[in-house]
Amino acid sequence: MKFWDEIRIRELEIYAYHGVYPEENEKGQPFFVNASFFCDIREAGRKDDLSLSTNYGEICHFITKWMQEHTCKLVEAVAEQLSRDLLLQYPLVEELELEIRKPEAPIGLPFGSVSVCVRRGWHTAYLSVGSNMGDRQRYIDDALHALGAEDHTRLQKVSQLLITKPYGGVGQEDFLNGAIQVRTLLSPHELLDWLHEIEAAAGRERLVHWGPRTLDLDILFYDKLIYEDGRLILPHIDMQNRDFVLRPLSEIAPNFRHPLLGLTVMQLLEALDIEA
Ligand code: ATP
Ligand code: CA
Ligand code: CA
Repeated sequence: MKFWDEIRIRELEIYAYHGVYPEENEKGQPFFVNASFFCDIREAGRKDDLSLSTNYGEICHFITKWMQEHTCKLVEAVAEQLSRDLLLQYPLVEELELEIRKPEAPIGLPFGSVSVCVRRGWHTAYLSVGSNMGDRQRYIDDALHALGAEDHTRLQKVSQLLITKPYGGVGQEDFLNGAIQVRTLLSPHELLDWLHEIEAAAGRERLVHWGPRTLDLDILFYDKLIYEDGRLILPHIDMQNRDFVLRPLSEIAPNFRHPLLGLTVMQLLEALDIEA
């Protein structure tokens, strides 16, 4: 649970050209923006120092310029892309809520207000990386490079790589395994899709479950999220049983607590060591 302070902007008016209809793109219309920026402004307040906060005047100008320089069909696209650019531009902002209101939307009926509102922010994810085919070190180095190459994700910590025996009783080469901490704007599913793209670029083929692979990237934790659907289970369902996951992870996040099991990574590793 984060107890962020909030910087609020209400009813910033901008004349812009977003809309599905050509006349909206030509003639334009007024938009109103409401925004809340969740960040820690305690120090800025105590020291009376703007450099420790985020300048709301600057943000208003940023939003206005952005809205005028882009032309989207949907206000959804405005909200999505503008949120992302704001989070990239203002690093002290952890999370934001952005509402784009279009009071003259061409609906042909009397209405009070239509708007879209999104909430977006930075998330911390822990990943495991493994390779046991070909030039393992190279596949992992390339993956780290790929993970650091997009502005939506920042590589924060990387463990040492461990040489480990294959898991699941499938006869094959030894693995090189590591753990990674990233900060990302991606949703869990977007992150998973992106990891699959990075695996595919390393020539990963899914032939045998737990079989040899050039590159395997799994999501271990995504914040403290507990989630499950047909494509994604969080936290990773089997991590607590894997020495080759917990050992590198304990190097970068020993005190991170598993949201379902209630134990820290270090405690999970100790429990596994006792079992063995
Ligand atoms: P394991 O998941 O037991 O480590 P694996 O990594 O060898 O096995 P893959 O073939 O890489 O298995 O992945 C199978 C599917 O697991 C993926 O396509 C993905 O949809 C799903 N999956 C579910 N939860 C996760 C997660 N937390 N991280 C990565 N993949 C996941
Ligand atoms: Ca795996
Ligand atoms: Ca996997």
